[in-house]
Amino acid sequence: MKLYFDTNMRKINSSNENMVIYYSSFLHNSIEVNYDAAKVIDYIIKNGYGNELDIPNLLEELPDFDETDIKDTYDALVESDLFFNDSVKYRSRKFLYKLYDSESDFKLERVYIHLTYRCNLKCEYCYNKEKLNSMEHLEISEWEKVLNCLCDAGKPILTITGGEAILYPYFNQFIEMAHDLGFYIELLTNGTLLNTLDVKIIKQIKHRQYAAGAYGKPQALVSCRKDGKDHEEN
Ligand code: SF4
Repeated sequence: MKLYFDTNMRKINSSNENMVIYYSSFLHNSIEVNYDAAKVIDYIIKNGYGNELDIPNLLEELPDFDETDIKDTYDALVESDLFFNDSVKYRSRKFLYKLYDSESDFKLERVYIHLTYRCNLKCEYCYNKEKLNSMEHLEISEWEKVLNCLCDAGKPILTITGGEAILYPYFNQFIEMAHDLGFYIELLTNGTLLNTLDVKIIKQIKHRQYAAGAYGKPQALVSCRKDGKDHEEN
């Protein structure tokens, strides 16, 4: 088992003398736990970022605990939104932090959003064969937080891609949310699933770009803008 977390989180006193608080300015979040759980957390933090958590080793290091105690603490930490067993979720928080924390006067021009690794094709030239069809993705509530941050960071152009982005289970909700927030939306797609989209959703996408091919043999990159400046690149 792995856990990803902010190794610089602070341990601070609680107003409840039986409890202690762990606070991460990095993640804008905190949890309050009893002293028993704090011993487990201290051990986990001491062992660093992204470590394998080997339960037998933890039991050796923490002889006051049995396997159930440690498993229960681990499960509670994963629920806390301060520790993550999924690197994708952790990285999304890290991304948000960078936006919150930046004091530089920057303006993002464009952001590529990879909604999913799933795809209905198997192109020979695929950039991401290793992860292709992994089911990992962010939930729509997490994308909502990202989009709100991106609004504050200058509302960049959103280039939506994947895998095949249309296979993201909340694709329509994502597009509607981004559209309602006023983003200029581009879609980079293999084009095979566009006929499954509602016209309303298609209209909210200002620029569609297709890597058109047959079973991995690229034939053309077709680009269609709502402003009528369509063109085709061979
Ligand atoms: S369409 Fe894109 S994501 Fe899908 S296999 Fe081809 S290159 Fe990879």
